[in-house]
Amino acid sequence: MTVAVDTVVDPSTGSVITEIPSAGPDDVAHAVDVAAAAFPGWSRTTPRERAELLLELADRVEERAVELGELESRNAGKPISAMPEEIDMCVDTLRFFAGAPRNLDGRAAGEYLEGHTSFVRREPIGVVAAITPWNYPLMMASWKVGPALAAGNVLVLKPSELTPLTTIALGQIAADVLPPGVLQVVCGTGAGAGAALVADPRVALVSLTGSVGTGRAVATIASDNLTRVHLELGGKAPVIVFDDADLEALIDAVVMAGYGNAGQDCTAACRVLAGPNLHDDVVDGLVEAARALRLGDPRDEATELGPLISQSQRARVAGMVDRARTAGARVATGGGAPDGHGFFYEPTVVIDVEQDAELIQREVFGPVVSVQRFTSEEEAVARANDVDYGLAASVWTSDTGRAMRVSRDLHFGAVWVNDHILTTSEMPHGGFKHSGYGKDLSVYALESQTELKHVMVNITADESR
Ligand code: NAD
Repeated sequence: MTVAVDTVVDPSTGSVITEIPSAGPDDVAHAVDVAAAAFPGWSRTTPRERAELLLELADRVEERAVELGELESRNAGKPISAMPEEIDMCVDTLRFFAGAPRNLDGRAAGEYLEGHTSFVRREPIGVVAAITPWNYPLMMASWKVGPALAAGNVLVLKPSELTPLTTIALGQIAADVLPPGVLQVVCGTGAGAGAALVADPRVALVSLTGSVGTGRAVATIASDNLTRVHLELGGKAPVIVFDDADLEALIDAVVMAGYGNAGQDCTAACRVLAGPNLHDDVVDGLVEAARALRLGDPRDEATELGPLISQSQRARVAGMVDRARTAGARVATGGGAPDGHGFFYEPTVVIDVEQDAELIQREVFGPVVSVQRFTSEEEAVARANDVDYGLAASVWTSDTGRAMRVSRDLHFGAVWVNDHILTTSEMPHGGFKHSGYGKDLSVYALESQTELKHVMVNITADESR
C-alpha cells in the first residue's frame, strides 16, 4: 500500500527536508474517535490539574527552545535571530492559559425567580479542530492548544502541510505530558485532512487561522453540521502617520513589522498612510532602511530577512508588485527577486498607489510596504477603513486626543498607538469584517472555547419530606 505524503521544503534553498504522511479521511476519523474518547475524562479534570499539565508542557517546550527554534527556522525560513523571542511567546501563551481557567468570571448565583436559585456553568465544548497556517507554525499551535486544553476541550491540531515540523515536535512533547488523546496532531493538506476534520460531525468547534478564502471554505463546510467556527483570517494593516509623529520610531517599527518574517504576518505594517508634510521623509526613510536590510541564509545570526515560504508565494507577491507597477505605481526600492536558490524577494517600497489598487485592497503577504499620502484626519481614517479586512492598524501621532479619536474610528480588532505588531497573552487578538470573528489569546479565547449553561434549582421547601 502506498502512503500519501506531503513534501516539506527548506524555503531558503528549495531543497527537500523530509516527507510527512498526509492524513486521509480514515486517519482523520480515527483521530476524532480517539479525541472523543478522551473528552469525558479530560473535561472533568479540575482547572488545577489542567494547569499543572499545561505548565509542564510549557516547561518542556522551553527546555527544547533552541532545537525547536532551529527546526522552525529551517522549515519556515525564519531568521534564527528571531526564534528565541518567538519560542518564548509560545511558552508564555501556554503558561498564561494554564492559569486562566482558575480565574474565570461569572454572574452571581441568586434567586432571580422566586423560589429558584440560578447559576451559570461554563462548560467545555468537546472535540476542537484547530487548523493553522505556515507563517508562525509553533506560535499559532500554542495559541490554539492553550485555550482549548485549558477550557477542558480535547484538540486535533492540523498544521499547514508546508510547515508541520515544529507542530509534530509539539505533539511528541505533549504525548509525554498529557493523557492519551487530549492533543493529537494530524498532518495533511487543507483539501484533504483539513476539510475532513471540518466535516466531521463530532467536531464541536473549528478554530482556523488562515486566509479569507480558506475561512469561507471552512465556514461553508462547517455549516452542514452547524459546527461552531472561529476564524482568524488575513489582514491589511494601515499605519496612519500624522505629521507630528516621531519619524525615527516609525521607520524602525515599519521595518520590523512590515519586513519582519518577510512580511508574512497577518498584522504586517504593510500600508502606510502618511501626512502631507511627512510623506516624503517617510518614503526616504523606509527606502534607506529597506535597502540596508540583510537578506540571506536564515541560519546566519546576522540575517534580518529570510525567504518567502514557497515558489508560488513568491510568484504571487511578484505578480502583485508587477501589476501595481503596470497600473502606474512607482517601486521606490526592491520589486525583484535576488539571484540564487530559495524563495527570496527584496524588501520593497511602493508609492503613488491608488486606493482601489489590488496592492492596497488585497493582502500581499510578502516584504512589500506601500506608502500613500493623505491630507486630513478624516481622509486618513476613511482610507484606512476602506478595505475588506479589519485585523490590525496603528496610528502615529504626538497628539493624545487625536490618537484616541482615531483609535475609536478605526474598524480593526487591534489598534496600536505609536507602535505596531506587538501582542501579549493577556489581550485578545482577532479581526473585524473579513478578517474573521472570535478571539485568540486572553480570557476571551477561553470564552469561545466554552459554552454557558444556566442551571436553575427549585428551592421551595417541600413540607412532605
Ligand atoms: P491558508 O488559508 O492557505 O491555510 C491555512 C490552513 O488551512 C492550512 O493548514 C491549510 O492546510 C488549511 N486549509 C486550506 N484549505 C482548507 C479547507 N478547505 N478546509 C480545511 N482546511 C484548509 O493560509 P496560509 O497561506 O497557510 O497562511 C497565510 C494566511 O493566514 C494569511 O491570509 C494570513 O493573514 C493568515 N493568518 C492570520 C492570522 C490571524 O491571527 N488572523 C495569523 C496568521 C496568519
